[in-house]
Amino acid sequence: MQSTVAGALAAGAQAQQPSSNKTIGLQIGAVSFVDEGVEKVLDVIQESASVNTIFLATFTYGRGIAGRQVPGQPLPDHGKQEYDTGSFFGGSYTAVHPQYFRDTVFREFRATDFGKYDVLEEVLPAARKRGIKTICWFEDVFRKDLPNIQQLQERELSGGAAGTLCFNNPNYRHWLLGMVEDWSRSHPIDGIMWGSERQGAFSNALSASHGSSDPERVTCFCQFCQAKAKQRGINVERARTGFLELAKFVRAGRAHERPVDGYYVTLWRLMLRYPELLAWEMLWTDSLRETYAAIYQRTKQVKSSLGVGWHIWHNNSFNPIYRAEQDLAELSKYSDFLKIVIYHNCGGERMANYIDHVHDSIYGDVPKQELLDFHYRVLDYRDEKDLAAIPEAGFSSDYVFRETKRARAGLTGSNTKLWPGIDIDIPTAQDHSKSTPEGTRQAVLAAIRGGADGVLLSRKYSEMKLANLKGAGTALRESNWA
Ligand SMILES: [Zn+2]
Repeated sequence: MQSTVAGALAAGAQAQQPSSNKTIGLQIGAVSFVDEGVEKVLDVIQESASVNTIFLATFTYGRGIAGRQVPGQPLPDHGKQEYDTGSFFGGSYTAVHPQYFRDTVFREFRATDFGKYDVLEEVLPAARKRGIKTICWFEDVFRKDLPNIQQLQERELSGGAAGTLCFNNPNYRHWLLGMVEDWSRSHPIDGIMWGSERQGAFSNALSASHGSSDPERVTCFCQFCQAKAKQRGINVERARTGFLELAKFVRAGRAHERPVDGYYVTLWRLMLRYPELLAWEMLWTDSLRETYAAIYQRTKQVKSSLGVGWHIWHNNSFNPIYRAEQDLAELSKYSDFLKIVIYHNCGGERMANYIDHVHDSIYGDVPKQELLDFHYRVLDYRDEKDLAAIPEAGFSSDYVFRETKRARAGLTGSNTKLWPGIDIDIPTAQDHSKSTPEGTRQAVLAAIRGGADGVLLSRKYSEMKLANLKGAGTALRESNWA
């Protein structure tokens, strides 16, 4: 009860602060400006949702933040009314300056989806004229058919090359640093945001996320990771053996072959026998943190006033192991801001997928509804629907409130800004929950009530319906943020 009163007081206090303190962000890719025109798009996002900061997808090979609507999903009520199946490729949507990429072999990554179109040249001056800030937004998503990319790839447990890149590989590390230096020196931007929607080998082997993975293809076992493991006193061969045993355990679980002592006990036996399983997981997580810190330092060296922060993957809402790795006190040391993904609408479908996956590995003996109830307890969600209903219902705005409030408390004592990622029309399966103007309004109000310093409307403008974007705008006006 006390916390509810405190929450209401906090919300009241915030409502009186000037709106200029609050970041009202929106993620957007080049295709929207190409299809709809720069001034038109800026008009629409200012009028519908009072956006004051655009997160421009300046680099990615993924459709989550670039390209038009994902093929198979209904097209929104703006933009070209056709899919870009044949023309989307990805890469850098702004000019690449080779002097920043001398110490990496990955140099050919300029997107040619729109010829020589340069999204920073086209959009940034127009945004600045309106007082809209521009953050360069990029993610850890690549393709396999790029020149020299093989030299940056992770190695799987099986020995093969992965499609993902290794943070400990100097070619990738130098590329990341070159990228942020290029943007920071070449354009009057306001900041950088990077996201990596990945986790370590232990969680991946268990498929402890809303996406499924092959336990024999977990990463990373490349020469650089092996050398780093040795430095940390981890026995590489024992780690390999442990992961091979873990893969057998997961394969048996997926075939519903129950171990003699049950799933949970047998997994503990493996962890006790091979503590290297957890050591390898933390090696990966520490490598990600070092990458954050390196990007932060490089950007600040170029221009200390630039804001630097991270997109924190939605798995933070489902998998307690991954949540344990998102130590906000640690991350705040090299984060001006955090976009914590709190996508309420697709959250239900994704949680149901996560439960299916861990039911085949860690918790094969626990009925799925009980397993979901356990997760609601340990993750501190109180007002969510049962397993049969969440794909169609999504998560509630109470989830957004609780996750914002938790993150706010986790950041106590730091200057890191908290900008929850708000779900607007993130694709879900055909019969599952869809965004609505009222659901979006409630989610934004919940984030504000939870103590957010801003909101980040996600994932990309090209998949958002304008009525739902306006739902966010309504909440912002009601809260005196706009
Ligand atoms: Zn590696």
